[in-house]
Amino acid sequence: MLRTAAAIAALGATLALSAAAQTVPGLFFKEGAIRVLLISGRNNHDWRTTTPILRRILEQSGRFDVRVVQEPGGLNAIAVAPYDVIVLDYNGPRWGQPAETAVGNAVRTGKGLVVVHGASYAFGEMELLADNHKRTGIKEPPWTDFAEMTGASWTDGPPKSGHGKRHIFDVKFTDPQHPIARGMPPSFRISDELYHNLVLKPGIKVLARALDSLDIGGTGKEEPVLWTLTYGQGRVFHTTLGHDASSMDAPGFIASFARGVEWAASGKVTLPGEIALDAPNKDALRVQLVIGGHDFAPTLWRAFDGQPDIRTNVVFQPEAYGKGQLKDTDVLVLYDMMQAISDEQKANLKSFLESGKGMVVLHHAIANYQNWPWWYEEVVGGRYILPNFGPKPSDYKHDIEMKVDPVAEHPVLNGVGPLLIVDEAYKDMWISPKSKVLLKTDHPASDGPMAWISPYNRSKVIYIELGHGPEAHRHPGFQRLVQNAIRWAGGW
Ligand SMILES: [Zn+2]
Ligand SMILES: [Zn+2]
Repeated sequence: MLRTAAAIAALGATLALSAAAQTVPGLFFKEGAIRVLLISGRNNHDWRTTTPILRRILEQSGRFDVRVVQEPGGLNAIAVAPYDVIVLDYNGPRWGQPAETAVGNAVRTGKGLVVVHGASYAFGEMELLADNHKRTGIKEPPWTDFAEMTGASWTDGPPKSGHGKRHIFDVKFTDPQHPIARGMPPSFRISDELYHNLVLKPGIKVLARALDSLDIGGTGKEEPVLWTLTYGQGRVFHTTLGHDASSMDAPGFIASFARGVEWAASGKVTLPGEIALDAPNKDALRVQLVIGGHDFAPTLWRAFDGQPDIRTNVVFQPEAYGKGQLKDTDVLVLYDMMQAISDEQKANLKSFLESGKGMVVLHHAIANYQNWPWWYEEVVGGRYILPNFGPKPSDYKHDIEMKVDPVAEHPVLNGVGPLLIVDEAYKDMWISPKSKVLLKTDHPASDGPMAWISPYNRSKVIYIELGHGPEAHRHPGFQRLVQNAIRWAGGW
């Protein structure tokens, strides 16, 4: 046993050393990123919403790699060792001595700590502890070091710590030369709770304050909102902001939080004063998605959302292919069902394709333009024959559970694999013998081919039959297929 303990202690020391030196087996940290341990899992705030937002802010800034712990009671020195900074989005029961000691020691010996909003009074406020006691029957003394570590404690007063009514206020930097503030605007506006009457520890440096208006039950004073301190060798950043998701949407919150985490971790701030979330990628493929003529469920968007390299603009069919409209389009995706098309639209569509730009035709768009043979024979390589457009019209059947198998080697099929999917099947279509089939089903309600590369040789055109309703739209295989098809048609 002694030997094991010694071995664990040695391992702890090794991990502590290697934190700076990059590799920690199994954690797969992004190289060069600041390593963040985000502690959550209990809060009198909606942590299940706020924790993913904090994570997203940090990861989208490009500077951090984040791990979330939702049961901090299991932390110990070894678990904490690989991280540069600990972020608290936690307000709940105490963690027990090993975890608290591990976190306290980590900060004291030089790791960063960031305290967000409700975590401000996680372990110190008497009323909260009494509340916990009532609910759980467990009587806990406050974690007295916590207030030393975070620079403030809450008191039952008088005056009592707390906040007035949530409102919109301006946060003004009072120490604009601090690395966290430098490069940010002198003030920012936020809808949030403004904490007041906290008992601040000597030695903290207040970075920003806001006026706590008497109108909303405030103190009428400029209350501290952001501050820093050192705890042993560790840097601590405390933000009282961040009550909920909409508070966290304020640009000033986003930037001050991310910059505060960077500073706590490294003592420096390299992040810009403004950090845009989901910033548009200027190199993304520009997709024009054409709809109209057939109803559909909004689950379709799932195939288009959340792909940083694909930027989609939706156009309603009677408006599509107008003058100059295809100028800024790299890939056309059709999910419309239309017969009417003006000569001008035809000419624009044709010259788009002849210019070598790609097209993805989805599901019912195979029934478009039945009076335009060039369209279905040469461009799409297939046609769903509507009644009155042929001796034997095509047919459809909803809610078919199909096996759909890849039958070719093609980049569009990467990661798609055999699909088990509930979707609509078409039967008795005309399919060009020159089309190169990529996916096939053996279901008798279908003709068989479920996706093909068209014979058109002046640009890349693909047809995907799948995609009638929510069952198909939310299928990851369908989404992947559509995204691959867009990238392939866009020349990637
Ligand atoms: Zn709150
Ligand atoms: Zn359909």
